[in-house]
Amino acid sequence: MKTVSIVGSTGSIGTQTVDVVMRHPDEYRVVAIGAHSSVDLLAAQAHQLHPEVVALGDPSRREELMGRLPEGTELIVGEQSFAAISGIADVAVNGVVGFAGLSVTVATLRAGRRLALANKESLIAAAPVVQRARATEGAEIVPVDSEHCAIHQCLGPQHHRAGVASVDEFYQAPRQLRRMLLTASGGPFRGRSLNELRQVTVNEALAHPTWKMGPKITIDSSTLMNMGLEVIEAHELFGVDYDQIEVVVHPQSIVHSMVEWSDGATICQLSYPDMRLPIGYALAYPDRYQEPFGAIDWTTLGSLDFSSPDLATFRCLDLAFAAGREGGSAPAWLSAANEVAVEAFLGGGIAWTTIADIVDETMQHHQPTDLIEVEDVLDADRRAREVARDIALAVVG
Ligand code: MG
Repeated sequence: MKTVSIVGSTGSIGTQTVDVVMRHPDEYRVVAIGAHSSVDLLAAQAHQLHPEVVALGDPSRREELMGRLPEGTELIVGEQSFAAISGIADVAVNGVVGFAGLSVTVATLRAGRRLALANKESLIAAAPVVQRARATEGAEIVPVDSEHCAIHQCLGPQHHRAGVASVDEFYQAPRQLRRMLLTASGGPFRGRSLNELRQVTVNEALAHPTWKMGPKITIDSSTLMNMGLEVIEAHELFGVDYDQIEVVVHPQSIVHSMVEWSDGATICQLSYPDMRLPIGYALAYPDRYQEPFGAIDWTTLGSLDFSSPDLATFRCLDLAFAAGREGGSAPAWLSAANEVAVEAFLGGGIAWTTIADIVDETMQHHQPTDLIEVEDVLDADRRAREVARDIALAVVG
């Protein structure tokens, strides 16, 4: 029996995690759930799962949730509550959206537990802090992001090591590894030119062809910033050089990523898009989850297409590579600037094409700082958001 904390339990990853654990209650017991403010769903999940603790991020919603939890379930409230439930189970699933997931990532690793990581922003923005926390005895990250989960599976257990101090030590970036190939669906705007994309609406950008996800990540998929963030995530998770990471556009989202070895052999992981597979993998690893999600029917699969990304139109991908290569606080600035730009787009204030402009201009104002503690990351994030907001405001006028 494994115990599980689900942080961000009411979001897309969270609700799918509930589905995965509920299918095998004999194998997994949810001891804690947490969400920012969706009190109705949180209360329903508490009655379904009977956790020991429920964490509510937004203190102003406390009254609404009090009295609606099952007998014996403790309610904790506020900014620190996510961190408080992160280290108490064998596995913490971090399904929090955006930078707010940082406290979950750091608290889980510092507690020496397994982090099932669906929140990429925490690893990207706070890499120096997260890598140190990862060196804690017993701490390990099993990625839930589909591409990185695929890479984790392609590398095989001989290349997974927990409790090491730095990226350089981690994985020893196996010398036989030639390339890591991350597959991107290309999003709803694949094949369109920059000019054609000046007028696209929020709803068009939210219509992802293959994956059903939350709004922030769906917009990131449409700009390829999601893939850019995933490139940085791959570098941090597996310790590979940026020169060894390549992005391949694959619209069917069947091949979830690949590794190419020194002898030319390419290993990939295939399944229909279903996030419950990576979630089940991260819970069950090194075993396999007991039932299939997204298993392929070869009689109807048809053809799979691959091509190179259009970097002139989808500029966010190159901006991410550049920030990743710069390292230090640059990825934190990139992620923060992107969150500000995406919010502005979702709010109807800017054009889709302006998202990359805001990120680009913000990065030109990047002031490198050392990231030693979580507080340093928060400072860098705050500063980057101020700069990005000023730039966004100037655009809106
Ligand atoms: Mg992904």
